[in-house]
Amino acid sequence: MKVRISEETEERYWENTVDGRRNKSALKQIDELCTQYFQMPFHDIVLLRPRELQEFVEDLSHGERRKIIAEDFQSIANNYIVTTLYAHLKEDNKKIIFNLTEDKVCPYCNRTYIEYVKRDKLHVTYEMDHYYNKDAYPFLAVSLYNLIPVCPSCNRIKGTKEFLYYPYDEKNSYGDSRFGYEIKGTDFLTNSDDFEITIEYFNKALETADNELYMKELYQTHKDVAQEIIRKCQYFGKGYAKSLMTAFPGGLFQNESEIYRLVFENYLDEEDFGKRPLSKMTRDIADETLSILGIEHEWG
Ligand SMILES: [Zn+2]
Repeated sequence: MKVRISEETEERYWENTVDGRRNKSALKQIDELCTQYFQMPFHDIVLLRPRELQEFVEDLSHGERRKIIAEDFQSIANNYIVTTLYAHLKEDNKKIIFNLTEDKVCPYCNRTYIEYVKRDKLHVTYEMDHYYNKDAYPFLAVSLYNLIPVCPSCNRIKGTKEFLYYPYDEKNSYGDSRFGYEIKGTDFLTNSDDFEITIEYFNKALETADNELYMKELYQTHKDVAQEIIRKCQYFGKGYAKSLMTAFPGGLFQNESEIYRLVFENYLDEEDFGKRPLSKMTRDIADETLSILGIEHEWG
């Protein structure tokens, strides 16, 4: 997931976070403790950028520092940062967090839309995951890049579990896992008992996280979608895109991948996987099926 946000917006997030808090002395105390334990003011902890945030936590876990963070600091951080600042996070900040990326689908499952919609005083909002959970890391409870917009089901299942696959890590890649399917009977295109969706992993951290989130089990509820993708490959695969290009030479379609996008009703370029649910599964299953059928295709 690519983060796109200006420094001004980051500063606005900080101002919003501490703005109007009457207990200035608590804030001052937190600031002093952050400087003592982490050699940086609270402001810098709140705005640690993705890579810095990961290094910050790695440092804590590998060294002895996590042990020497005294309990009283944990409890002050918990009382003030979690129960005051986080509990009263402003709507503008929720909007800033939502707009950190262009993604509109839960980054953990790619199954469910997340949204931020406001009407009058009511809001329909995504759920917020503390990637580094607030029990162990209360001092990170309002850190901008620690708050991940996710779907309710992933948020609930993840709870306080510690993952090693951080959604804002630029090293993450579409190729870290691959969807496929196993045919278990002759009626595999219509009967869900004859068909199973599989996920193969090339990254241990993602496999562990997905396992915690029940991904393999949850994706079995999308067998019908996968079966339709396979049928579309069979019906429309061979020569279909090329024949449409020939039939409409006037530029109705820009290229073959645009036709595939319409056929599969989803985005097929990994850059766009965050825009619509099940896009990664769609691409992987279509890829595998077209290859089995010996159909040359390109998505880009
Ligand atoms: Zn999710």
